[in-house]
This record gives sequence, C-alpha cells and structure tokens, in this order.
Amino acid sequence: MKIHNFSSGPSILPDYVLRKASEAVVNFNDSGLSLLEISHRTDSFIQILEEARELVIELLGLKNKGYKALFLQGGASLEFVRVAYNLMNNHKKAGYIDTGRWAANAMNEARFFGEVVTVASSKDKDYAFIPKNYSVPSNLDYLHLTSNNTIYGTQFQNFPKLDIPLVCDMSSDIFSRVLDFEKFDLIYACAQKNVGTSGVNLIVIKEELLNRTNTVLPNIMNYKMHIEKESMYNTPAVFSIYVSYLTLQWIKQQGGISAMEERSKARSELIYNEIDRNSMFYGTAAKEDRSLMNAVFFLHNQKLSDYFDSLCKEAGISGLKGHRTVGGYRASMYNALPLESVSILVEVMRKFQEIYND
Ligand SMILES: *Cc1c(COP(=O)(O)O)cnc(C)c1O
Repeated sequence: MKIHNFSSGPSILPDYVLRKASEAVVNFNDSGLSLLEISHRTDSFIQILEEARELVIELLGLKNKGYKALFLQGGASLEFVRVAYNLMNNHKKAGYIDTGRWAANAMNEARFFGEVVTVASSKDKDYAFIPKNYSVPSNLDYLHLTSNNTIYGTQFQNFPKLDIPLVCDMSSDIFSRVLDFEKFDLIYACAQKNVGTSGVNLIVIKEELLNRTNTVLPNIMNYKMHIEKESMYNTPAVFSIYVSYLTLQWIKQQGGISAMEERSKARSELIYNEIDRNSMFYGTAAKEDRSLMNAVFFLHNQKLSDYFDSLCKEAGISGLKGHRTVGGYRASMYNALPLESVSILVEVMRKFQEIYND
C-alpha cells in the first residue's frame, strides 16, 4: 500500500533523494566505498559540500549579494544559542516575536547572552495568530522571527523592513515560497523538514553582519570561524549534507522555489477548503495567517477520534497526529509531499463525515 507521509519532521523526502542516498551508502560515486566510510576531506565530498552551499545561495536568489551558506550541527536548537552568542554584542539586547514554542525556546536560550525584549506575542491566544502591528525599538542588536510555526500552523505572510538586522528561523518553510530573502541578515533552518534529514542545519548569513561580531567566541560557536573554514571547521555531517545536496538538486530540477510555492499553495488550498467545509472538523489558526506547510485541525467530537484514525490508517495516511502539546491533527505538507496525498486525506475526511455525521 502506498503510504502518505504527513510527518512533521523528520519528514517525507523525494524518491530521487532516497534512491541516490541509498546508492551512495553502498557505493559512493563508483568509488567502491560507502559515503559513510570516507573522509570528509575527500575531493568528491568537498565538491558536494561546495555545490550544496552554492545551490542554497542560488535557490534563494542571493548570488553575489554577500551571503554565505553553512551546514553545521546541533539542530535549529543550537542556532538559538549561536545566533544570540554571535549577535547580541552591542546593545546586549535583542527583540523576539513570540509566535510559538520554538520562538519561545529561542528566547529562553538568548537570555543567557543578554536582554530579550518581547516585541510582540500571540501566546495569550494559544499562538493562533501572527502579531501584526508591532513597533520595533531601534536599540536592539537584531529582531528574531519564526517564519512558520510548525506546531500551531501559522506563518508570517509579511516581513518587516528594518534598520536593525533581521534574523529568521525558517526551519519548517525554507524553500517553500518565494520571498525577498535579501530582507534577512541571517536565516537558519534544521534540515529535517524541507532540506533533507536530521543531523545538519543550514545557516545563511550576510557576511557584513559578522563584522560587528564579538571576537572572543569559542570557535565552534563562531560563525566567522565556520565561514573561514568553509563549513569544515570540524567534521561535518557528511551523510546528512549529502541528503540535503540531493534535495536541493531536486528542488532545482523541479523548477526552484517558485515551483515549490505553486505546489504548497495547491496542497494547502485543498486541505483548508475541506477543513472549512467539513462539519466534523475545525481549524484553530487565524485564516489570514494559515501555514502553507502545516495545517492544524481538530475534531468537534473528540470521542470519534478512534474512528477517524482507523479510516486514516486504512488509507495509508501516516504522521497526522498533532504535536503532543496541542493534540488534534496536523497535516505537514512539506515540499516532497505529492498533491495526491492531500487528495487522499481529503477523501478520508469526506468519508468520515458521511459515515459519522448525525
Ligand atoms: C523543528 C523546529 C525546530 C527544532 O529543530 P531541532 O533540529 O530539533 O533543534 C526549531 N524551529 C522550528 C520552527 C522548527 O519547526
């Protein structure tokens, strides 16, 4: 049976990526060696790392704009720390928009390095919307946003143009929609949602930003050091980077970010139309802030959840459970998810309504 993978992360990857990655595990580039057992200093791997970094810059439309891409380890959660450690060094103060648990985690980590100003928050409404009319003080080292709130299914539709650096956690929506990426001074994302598999995180930095960076940082925490060493300061996550490289290649082959955006729009329209139409379900995210990547929805009658779950299972739907702190359902529709999978889910929702609506 075909499985429809709605997992929130690690999540679905294109068949092309799975096939090429598995070949490389057995015999990498016809070398007779596995990718898992070669040095990261092998020419063929260095070339992959370089190409992956270039592909990132190219896909984001940042070629010749002074940006560098890095593949480091520790997940997006380590970037919560590294961002503050590198950038909170003038005013010792940074602004954060609190739009969810990941944003709040980033704030908690930043407090080790200076003052965290909550510029806006949707916490008192269970993070069901994206704050809009906020003003950003100018005496901040940066403003930090979380572009897509994976757990609550909300997404920033507009980004402020600021005089201070703009930092964005794009873990769950990078490469899924066209944005003016030049607005951002630093973008980071864990790979396991739209870039590849876990074990590596992508960082895109405007190099100029680092000129004001504190020079007394531990090397492993220092973006400048990682740029200087071309993402090879320490042993990189060779296999995870290869999976990211293949995914980036796939995105390019498919027509780049604009093609990904078209697909995201088609998928999300289908599911949100059904959530709004179907009397058995309701969504919680404010309509104008709905995420193209993660659709969060609930049953009006919680007692019917076992029935709905079994219909999903029968149809091969996997990974639909909501985040453990929120409950309900979450359809994560990352780049590699075919529209067909969403159609199947919508069919199941309709069937469920036909059977159990009374
Ligand atoms: C998944 C996620 C994270 C956490 O990433 P880790 O790699 O587990 O540290 C951070 N931010 C957002 C928006 C996420 O979706």
